Amino acid sequence: SWSSSDSVISSDSAVEAAEPGSPYRVVLLGGSGVGKTAFASIFGGAADSMDSDECDLCGDQVCEKEIEVDGEPATIILLDTWDAETDSELSVERYMQIGDAYLLLYSITDRASFLKASELRITLRRFRPARHTPIILVGNKCDLVRRREVSTNEARACAAVFDCKFIETSTAMQHNVWEAFYGIVRQLRLRRDSKED
Ligand code: GDP
Repeated sequence: SWSSSDSVISSDSAVEAAEPGSPYRVVLLGGSGVGKTAFASIFGGAADSMDSDECDLCGDQVCEKEIEVDGEPATIILLDTWDAETDSELSVERYMQIGDAYLLLYSITDRASFLKASELRITLRRFRPARHTPIILVGNKCDLVRRREVSTNEARACAAVFDCKFIETSTAMQHNVWEAFYGIVRQLRLRRDSKED
């Protein structure tokens, strides 16, 4: 089902990607060590059942998969492994432009990663001033309760200010990871349906 990686990033038109049946480009954003790779491998499942390829423009792994959400299939192209610390400004801008939706990850055990997520949200707003781009703030590693540095209430309040949804996940426990993807698809469909009206 993997076509060419060019087609993933060639279109800047959100309208095109919002048409029923066409894949949604979902970008994983977040600081180093928050669990982006773990998130992507749950999404991809076993390596042999995953279609993956190098993205020509960003040079990172992309993975395409069809999932069923509320009885309706949806195809997601997950763009992974963006590392804010090491990547160039150009690459950052690229990711900010090509996503139909964003999963903004931090670790609940790492306050610095939470601040990083805030920074990324602000940068994202610069690139995506329109309020329609679905974003979910994802507090990962919620299994590590004793090492928690960011409370659920604080993060929820922050998400409200950020104008995005919020979920806590644990890739280690496989908790809420799929719910995050379902949430993204539901938001994308809401946007699509409101455009059809
Ligand atoms: P990335 O740098 O954002 O891609 O982060 P990784 O996916 O490589 O994860 C960094 C480390 O955190 C690895 O050792 C993971 O095993 C661990 N990790 C990721 N998610 C979780 C989680 O939900 N719970 C726990 N306990 N560890 C996690």
